[in-house]
Amino acid sequence: MGESSQVSGRVIPLVKAGVESVRAASAEALSSARATHLVRDTRQRALHDLRISVTDKCNFRCTYCMPKDVFGPGYKFLPQDALLSFEEITRFARIAAELGVEKLRLTGGEPTLRRDLPKLIEMLAALRTPSGRALDLTLTTNGSTLVKQARALKSAGLKRITVSLDSLDDATFKAMNDVDFPVADVLKGIDAAQAAGLEPIKVNMVVKRGVNDTADSGTDSGVTAMAKHFKGSGVIVRFIEFMDVGATNGWRMDDVVPSAEVVRRISEWSPLDAIDAQYDGEVAERWRYKDGGGEIGVISSVTQAFCSTCTRARLSTDGKIFTCLFATGGTDFRAMMRNGASDDDIAALLVGLWQTRGDRYSEIRTAATSADRQSRKVEMSYIGG
Ligand code: SF4
Repeated sequence: MGESSQVSGRVIPLVKAGVESVRAASAEALSSARATHLVRDTRQRALHDLRISVTDKCNFRCTYCMPKDVFGPGYKFLPQDALLSFEEITRFARIAAELGVEKLRLTGGEPTLRRDLPKLIEMLAALRTPSGRALDLTLTTNGSTLVKQARALKSAGLKRITVSLDSLDDATFKAMNDVDFPVADVLKGIDAAQAAGLEPIKVNMVVKRGVNDTADSGTDSGVTAMAKHFKGSGVIVRFIEFMDVGATNGWRMDDVVPSAEVVRRISEWSPLDAIDAQYDGEVAERWRYKDGGGEIGVISSVTQAFCSTCTRARLSTDGKIFTCLFATGGTDFRAMMRNGASDDDIAALLVGLWQTRGDRYSEIRTAATSADRQSRKVEMSYIGG
């Protein structure tokens, strides 16, 4: 556990970059969190969602996440023994569930590249909230392996799934994933997920101006085309504003297509009504087709920040907790787990960390803040989106 690691009430030096030490919660605070299954941060946001990155590897090189010039042939990914084991992930998720976490999202890199992933899903699907309910277990994938894996993921206990698909135009999609992976194979993967009974299925499209939003260029390969393709299919498309995640995607405000513009474009084709969030902290703003054709969502981290209701913690592939997607450093829990720390120790540190959380990056983001923090932000492919 590195230098001086006593837990309850004592200061724990944090691993690496950019964050002050975190004090583990007192025994009283821990028992109260356990009794109420609730931990709130400095903005009264409850710890509710845990995003778990199970690998930092991916078979795509999406330009806004893992640009090839950085994540090239020589890039050093985490060695196998640095990754949390399925037992460690499940233990951490179990401890977090006692403290109020009700939703687990498996991410990466590309989570389906992690060997024996269905085994982990089985272990997580067996967990229960303190009131005995199964946790809401979902996964975000690029869809490249779904044709093969959808049934196994479903029978292992996965309930629903989100597939990233940034364009229906093959040339545009290949340009964005930068590995020439065809649209048709992702669409077949979505069909396989539907056939396997994963429900609901969401499709995430990251919209970048002048790259994949260009419905107006007459080729209709942009946001409207994506909406048209899935309207009436039961699949919910979420349009995501291009974000300055990590330190390598060359983000510029000019490349952002505000969600309001996306909604306007689609509504001109098929009128939409705004609908309420399904729960506090829901990331996507929901819109329903007036003609009953289903719904879409927009995720507007840049133009309509939603930090005030952000209930998400992120567990990195090697066991650090990040309290914000745009964080510059995390808190190591792997060392604790591998050096005999008790569940109380781990829970106390998680409570202490969350109770001091004040993240609100999207509320303060400007071109300036982005530039300043640019070089220090953790990569999205390492902590999961
Ligand atoms: S910027 Fe950070 S605090 Fe705000 S919504 Fe995103 S992850 Fe949450």
